[in-house]
Amino acid sequence: MPSWERIKEDFPIFRNLGSGYVYLDSAATSQKPMSVIKAISDFYLYNNSNVHRGIYRLSEEATEMYGRSRENVSNFIGSHDPGQIVFVRNATEALNLLSYTLGWELVSGDEILITIMEHHSNIVPWQFLQDKGIKLVYADIRPDGTLDMDDLQSKVSPRTKILSVTHVSNVLGTVNPVREIGKIAHDNGSTFIVDGAQSVPHMPVNVETIDCDFMAFSGHKMLGPTGIGVLYGKRELLEKMHPFMGGGEMISEVYRDHSTWADVPEKFEAGTPDIAGAIGLSAAVDYLRSIGMDNVMKHGRDLMKLTFEMEAEENIPGLLSYGPRNTDIRGPVYSFSIGEIPPFGVNQALVDDGIGVGTAIHPHDVASSLDASGIAVRSGHHCAMPLTHRLNTVATTRASYYVYNTEEDVRRLFRSLKRAAEVYSK
Ligand code: PMP
Repeated sequence: MPSWERIKEDFPIFRNLGSGYVYLDSAATSQKPMSVIKAISDFYLYNNSNVHRGIYRLSEEATEMYGRSRENVSNFIGSHDPGQIVFVRNATEALNLLSYTLGWELVSGDEILITIMEHHSNIVPWQFLQDKGIKLVYADIRPDGTLDMDDLQSKVSPRTKILSVTHVSNVLGTVNPVREIGKIAHDNGSTFIVDGAQSVPHMPVNVETIDCDFMAFSGHKMLGPTGIGVLYGKRELLEKMHPFMGGGEMISEVYRDHSTWADVPEKFEAGTPDIAGAIGLSAAVDYLRSIGMDNVMKHGRDLMKLTFEMEAEENIPGLLSYGPRNTDIRGPVYSFSIGEIPPFGVNQALVDDGIGVGTAIHPHDVASSLDASGIAVRSGHHCAMPLTHRLNTVATTRASYYVYNTEEDVRRLFRSLKRAAEVYSK
């Protein structure tokens, strides 16, 4: 097992912020190791030029570096063909690309099945299609925060053209059984999409084992830079799809009245891409690989186990946390509230089955109180408002862990939380 204290030293921001700073917001964005920062600055210092167009050495080198980055990312997620990796800005753009391109093929009466635990980026792009008469259907969760597979199965019908689910919930931490869900989708002839924004950074992910048709994820949550993300898609599907954006790079030939498209993946990469971003993401992949994704996953689970132990030990009055307790099906995300004052009408059924009851110390107050102790957490709806409402609240506080977090960070979180709860209860 790597030394996690040692790993923290690879992240220069912690030297700059002071070694006591506890960053617990990696589900929003991760910090960057020096190797990623260096790969990006080296590109601008030594290799900068545009890709694809130049017949000069510098541009050929940049093109080669960009292509190697694609290959590296492809290998990292178990795709045998780098042509299946489309570089986009982030998971959100990848899912919007799918809503526009797959959406063109759908007709009134078709259905898209998602889950109530989706991030807005796997809800809102599909809502755009409602104007065409396409229906958005939600599979529910069970009281323990896992996906209700019976409910999901019961909502699959011949009208279900797309089934799109998050691999790991950014609020509950739930790891969904994507292989099983993919089988349900394919048995029904539905296209299967996985939002991997919270899984690819934290666990070994193999798109071919999962057998998803598409997967979306963001570089910035996996130690890479902002502005680069990935849409994985099976080649035969990408080839059939209409392009998303038009312009340079994505065409083969352009005439006055029509154009022909470049091969995949370039067909989906209109305009000058984020070359340095792709190179930075590739460096992040190298870094994660050097730790080993099994170790990354185990570390997340260990920190979650400690979280539950600390929860029991500190026994903070009114603390209510969400999501499965079984750390084998839990990403390193811990959402909680303190108190039991329902913010808007109590849904007694939800209270009875233990799904949620609201907040008393507002999560923003929890977050600012932790900030005063040098602990960064997020508060709010975490871009999952339908889930937040399903939990019968309006906001939660969320701590999320990554490779630079240590056991001491978790202990400090709970010591500070206990103090905050005491101050507010006076
Ligand atoms: N899906 C999930 C599950 C997420 O957690 C996030 C980011 N919070 C996204 C999608 C969107 O990622 P991005 O903002 O990088 O597009």
